[in-house]
Amino acid sequence: MLKTHLAFALLCWITVSAALPDTVSRSLVGLSLVLLASVVPDIDSHKSFVGRLARPLSDVIEGFAQHRGVLHSMLLPSAACFALIIAGYKQLAFPLFLGYCSHIIADALTSEGVAPFSPISGLRIHGLFSTGGLLEYVVFVSLVVVNGALLLGL
Ligand SMILES: [Zn+2]
Repeated sequence: MLKTHLAFALLCWITVSAALPDTVSRSLVGLSLVLLASVVPDIDSHKSFVGRLARPLSDVIEGFAQHRGVLHSMLLPSAACFALIIAGYKQLAFPLFLGYCSHIIADALTSEGVAPFSPISGLRIHGLFSTGGLLEYVVFVSLVVVNGALLLGL
């Protein structure tokens, strides 16, 4: 679910960005990029929040990419990150990479899983969570509590 992806991306940003030397990654701009990138992979489904917002683009993407296929691969954010660094936008590369990867990691914890090396390998990684199930709701609430505690310095 969208809100779980956002909460998990926030946790990733809180725990990782403080260790980075560049100020963009630690700023609200960096956080915004992390949160944006954390929901982009689901553009491969017109049923997702992002897919509904991006119609008809999501319909076009569905025509050549299955849901949780190539857009849920680690290869895409890695290549995009590399391209951004080469182009001189390394401050944007890390937050976008972090957010995108947080989405893939979270989806890998679900029973549907992801193929993190698609299209090179069809290996799928699965977890125990059902998307939208009770366990995901418990995880979401836990993420909100942990994020709140970390942001408040508790
Ligand atoms: Zn997804």
